[in-house]
Amino acid sequence: MVAMRKRNLKVLTFLVLLVFLTSFFLNYTHTVVTTAWFPRQMVSELSESLKKLMNYPQRPCTCAHCVGEAGVSPWFDERFNQTMQPLLTAQNALFEEDTYSWWLRLQREKQPKNLNDTIKELFQVVPGNVDPVLKKGSVGCRRCAVVGNSGNLKESQYGPQIDGHDFVLRMNRAPTTGFEADVGSKTTHHLVYPESFRELGENVSMVLVPFKTTDLQWVISATTKGTISHTYVPVPARIKVKKNKILIYHPAFIKYVFDSWLQGHGRYPSTGILSVIFSLHICDEVDLYGFGADSKGNWHHYWENNPSAGAFRKTGVHDGDFESNVTATLASINKIRIFKGR
Ligand code: C5P
Repeated sequence: MVAMRKRNLKVLTFLVLLVFLTSFFLNYTHTVVTTAWFPRQMVSELSESLKKLMNYPQRPCTCAHCVGEAGVSPWFDERFNQTMQPLLTAQNALFEEDTYSWWLRLQREKQPKNLNDTIKELFQVVPGNVDPVLKKGSVGCRRCAVVGNSGNLKESQYGPQIDGHDFVLRMNRAPTTGFEADVGSKTTHHLVYPESFRELGENVSMVLVPFKTTDLQWVISATTKGTISHTYVPVPARIKVKKNKILIYHPAFIKYVFDSWLQGHGRYPSTGILSVIFSLHICDEVDLYGFGADSKGNWHHYWENNPSAGAFRKTGVHDGDFESNVTATLASINKIRIFKGR
């Protein structure tokens, strides 16, 4: 017992030292784009990292196979980085210079507003201290359904199966009303960007995927004064989503998906693959529904005949084939399951 306590103390001391040195190293060896690095912020960052180290990797997962488990597949272990934080918070809003410049180039924003000021303002509006998704709560085996928008969901009758998951993640313009039998009616998280926004149910967490600085400003505007109604297309000036239900996908996590998982294929990751990798980090079991292009390789939808189904191919913005190879490989090593529909 005493020996065990001593061991725990040693491990704890080691962790504190490690966190301190890592923070120090990150702070002084990289150019970061951030607000000033005050001691209070450092303490908060330290405690955040410590919490992450203490809680996140040791999440007690009681599933038969836990998705984040190392040592199952070298292919997976090479790509999966447990320390990446999927959500932006006031404490982790640090960008390395190359991440920031990569992110700025995504949509070639002409005169981006200052990112630090925008983030400061953003977290005066939406919660910035908590990271509720990462908190495991009482669920010992968190089962997630990631529902893409593919036409293969039509007449699939997956609805009840999808609704049986703890988390149901949907994205972009996906409706459920009128399609419940095939896609279910439950949504816990909905990933969107301003141009793909749709109103969400009351208890749904909106996960804003920022592809440009304006997207963060839009969140502020759409929940307060409503001054932004146009980006490169018209966007809703106001949204009904409650401020406390808004989460922000971390731009550095977008780059992680691009570098580690897509190995630079396409210009940047699609909302679909961003949702899949996000789920690998917050869930214990992951089931995919609604992923799969039509016979021409286009991203058809289950609720409409979308004329823009092939747009991503023409512009080369996403590499749909490579993304689908990634999900297929994840399935082949039993990390996820893919329900292919009809
Ligand atoms: O079309 P949209 O981008 O809204 O679809 C969301 C995601 O669903 C895509 O990013 C893609 O990953 C996935 N999808 C798919 N096959 C389709 C349609 C969408 O894999 N036919």
